[in-house]
Amino acid sequence: MNKLGDLPKVDKFVTTSLFKGLNQHLLIKITREHIDRLRKDILENKVQNIDENALAMGVKKAYDALFQPSLKPLINATGVILHTNMGRSLISKTLLERASVAICNYSNLEYNLEKGKRGERYEHVSGHLKSLLHVEDVLVVNNNASAVFLILNTFAKNKEVIVSRGELVEIGGSFRIPEVMKQSGAKLCEVGATNKTKLADYQDAIGEKTAMLMKVHQSNFSIEGFSEDVAFSSLKTLAQANNLIDYFDVGSGYLGKLPYNLGAKEPSLEEILSCHTSLISFSGDKLFGSVQAGIIAGKKELIAKLKKNQLLRMLRVDKITLSILEESIKAYLAEEYEQIPTLWMLQQSVESLEKRALHVKSQIGESYCEIIQSDTYMGGGTLPNRKFPTIALHVKGKATVLERKFRANFVIGRIENDKFLLDFRSILPALEAKLITITQKIIEEKQ
Ligand SMILES: *Cc1c(COP(=O)(O)O)cnc(C)c1O
Repeated sequence: MNKLGDLPKVDKFVTTSLFKGLNQHLLIKITREHIDRLRKDILENKVQNIDENALAMGVKKAYDALFQPSLKPLINATGVILHTNMGRSLISKTLLERASVAICNYSNLEYNLEKGKRGERYEHVSGHLKSLLHVEDVLVVNNNASAVFLILNTFAKNKEVIVSRGELVEIGGSFRIPEVMKQSGAKLCEVGATNKTKLADYQDAIGEKTAMLMKVHQSNFSIEGFSEDVAFSSLKTLAQANNLIDYFDVGSGYLGKLPYNLGAKEPSLEEILSCHTSLISFSGDKLFGSVQAGIIAGKKELIAKLKKNQLLRMLRVDKITLSILEESIKAYLAEEYEQIPTLWMLQQSVESLEKRALHVKSQIGESYCEIIQSDTYMGGGTLPNRKFPTIALHVKGKATVLERKFRANFVIGRIENDKFLLDFRSILPALEAKLITITQKIIEEKQ
């Protein structure tokens, strides 16, 4: 007959030894849900017998699942170093440990130790950043999108900003320059054509309401062929001759030199900032290789105005961002480039990647895989269409099946010409042993 009377009582059920030491509140909640479901199943004749053991195991499983991390570490074997979906730049453990001292203790985040009074949070990175970028002043906000918004809102609200039609980009995550401009209160004045914009186009558009000449990095696409754009240096000269602000949303700023001739059409931050730039902004976690942040650099008086905008309070960075960013900047100053994983991976020679791939291949077995020379991209909306060499291990077998199996083991690879590849450009050496174990397991499963 009806088994409802046999359903366990929650209070007693949760005292089972299997549940020892667990959070009672959570446990009772999960148990109730399971018993309710069981009751429903009994009423619908889907269940004939109540198995208390199975019920307990089900509850324990649901409880444990709550404590599984949602953010799981992955092995990025796609070859794309700045993978937008996998967290862009990595932070080195060493830098994180250095930064943890300030994060895990009280600090002088907003306390001036000399005066014994309230200080300013933005000062902590500004000294180091100024030395690194050779600029008058800097400001750090939550990300580059907020830097763009803050700059437009501060200097161009109810005024006009002149931008080339070839630079009205969508960055991804629905960040579109025209929409951002509208929300910030600035009026967009588009000039030129999609493929060609000349300095005269900007010049002709300058009027009474113009506040700023803005250049936006195209980031995730490039225009080839019959095309022309205006170098920021020319825009700068024109802006300053007309008492306007010149602003370059650089997106993915980098310092120094990029390998594989990647910097050929891509000026470095040093080059962009040479000679009296009003303002630039760039992401902290793209080619710069640090935490998510929007770094604004330029003239002192302009940065001072940005600091007075109430919006800054909404866009401000916390001590975790500031401490890690400070450590990254110090690593740059000390030329400890191995502490900037994004740069380190990019700088690896094809020979050293091949050596690592050969080692992995020897562990897996010659008959199951082969080494392939290929090309990869930087990713993260940087260096569009600019490929550079890499080395991958082709794991033999049906590519789509392998892709799924590796993904189930938290290894994300790449399929190229129907081959499943593990690209060494983005695989951290410390994860190679784990990768070998996973690959061996997947190959054995196949047998
Ligand atoms: C990436 C990018 C942004 C957005 O930067 P986030 O740090 O992702 O907010 C804005 N502008 C350009 C040109 C970019 O490349």
